[in-house]
Amino acid sequence: MLKTKIQRPPVVAVLGHVDHGKTTLLDHIRKSNVAAREHGGITQHIGAYQITLKDRKITFIDTPGHEAFAKMRSRGAVASDIAILVVAADDSVKPQTVESITQIKAAGVPIIVAINKIDLPGANVDKVKSDLAKVGVQVEGFGGDIPFTQLSAKTGKGIPELLDLILLVSEMNDLKSDSKAPFESVIIETKIDKGKGLVATLIVKQGSLAVGTPLFEGAKNIGRVRALINEKGERLDVLNPGDPAEVLGFSKLPSIGALVHESAQAEKQILQAQVPARDLAGFMAAMAEADKKKLTILLKADTAGSLEAIVASLPKDRVVIVRRDLGDITEADILDAKSSKAFVVGFNVKAAPSIEKLARTEKVVYRTYTIIYELLKELGDVVEGLEEILAPERELGIGQIIAEFPYENLRVAGTKVLSGRLARGDTVKIVRKEEEVARGKIKSMKKVKEEVNKVEEGADCGILFDKKVDFELGDAIIAVTI
Ligand code: GDP
Repeated sequence: MLKTKIQRPPVVAVLGHVDHGKTTLLDHIRKSNVAAREHGGITQHIGAYQITLKDRKITFIDTPGHEAFAKMRSRGAVASDIAILVVAADDSVKPQTVESITQIKAAGVPIIVAINKIDLPGANVDKVKSDLAKVGVQVEGFGGDIPFTQLSAKTGKGIPELLDLILLVSEMNDLKSDSKAPFESVIIETKIDKGKGLVATLIVKQGSLAVGTPLFEGAKNIGRVRALINEKGERLDVLNPGDPAEVLGFSKLPSIGALVHESAQAEKQILQAQVPARDLAGFMAAMAEADKKKLTILLKADTAGSLEAIVASLPKDRVVIVRRDLGDITEADILDAKSSKAFVVGFNVKAAPSIEKLARTEKVVYRTYTIIYELLKELGDVVEGLEEILAPERELGIGQIIAEFPYENLRVAGTKVLSGRLARGDTVKIVRKEEEVARGKIKSMKKVKEEVNKVEEGADCGILFDKKVDFELGDAIIAVTI
């Protein structure tokens, strides 16, 4: 049998907190690449690029950030083989560093830590290492075996070492793909170009792609390859595993993260969750079951001002905000909410239909509001509802039995309400000398001769229980939540 498994270039994604230097690093690598320099250094952004180092190729996904990564993963397509986690040495681990780590681990991709901005006076590499260890990323020499490099994306110092490390990690992972297998690729970027029409950048996962190859997303034919163009604007004849290129010839643009094949594939079943995306009651029940006493939310808003106003109005002792951000609800938000078991709250922001679908699949609950009052009220109701579910038992009112009247064959308890209130339908405990002697429900109440639903503190009433209760004069009637 013919051996068709070939070594292929590693596909590398760059993740990390905003401003930690992802774009600068990707730009530096692209610009300092020999092939690019030979070409005059003119490259265009197509969402991915390839460099050649020691006769080996490396493909970089040029859309930094964990959002893009999450988007692909949410469709089951792990486009990259290696993830570079960029952490600025002067800023250390930040929320999006942690989110990136969660995404990378969920995807099961090896990590290389790149401690960036070491040229800055405030750089503290040891702090980064120890902070990373606290969030589960133990680098070499610091209790773990995750490779790391120190660099400056600005000056270029340390970048050759990073590239060597990428080759080393890819060798260790023995990346091979079948070039003769049916073609499969993952979509990295899409756009509508005035001159070229519908354009999508893809990276080949297996097989090869040439001009004329039909393109399918699921069972749907979405075009035929008219041209393959790399980031240097060169037309290519064929793409092999690990190669990126802009593809022309689409009749319909696939979505980012979609898998594109050369023939029809069975449509992927999208699992319908039992919990509808907007079901707050279901969310509360799940939280109560987990005995979570605080409401965990991921908050999105349109402006910094409204974000601030909402945060200031939420009860801090009862609501935990795992992340707050500006902008529409994204796939990364839903995935983060899933991992932190949070409820996604959006104010004056939108959630695309694809988000609704993803939320259902991932069983994440989200809500959007346009009126702050409504948002706060609903969150308040959830918090209260949770409290009621979880509270050991809350007293609603206390009365004392001060008289007894016969009523048909039953006993009516003449009661004085000492505090709170007693109401029809309440569950009550009968307490004698601080001990509960019976439990029942208030079936009906009379004030003088009139049937009433509720009696407040200070008033007297006659109470009929739903079953026979052996009360005595002097017993307390305590209405409780159940
Ligand atoms: P991104 O949001 O992670 O893509 O971060 P950028 O690449 O946009 O970088 C954010 C800022 O940090 C920019 O002003 C960069 O010039 C700067 N920066 C990036 N890398 C370095 C570095 O190694 N040293 C210094 N001093 N500044 C850097």
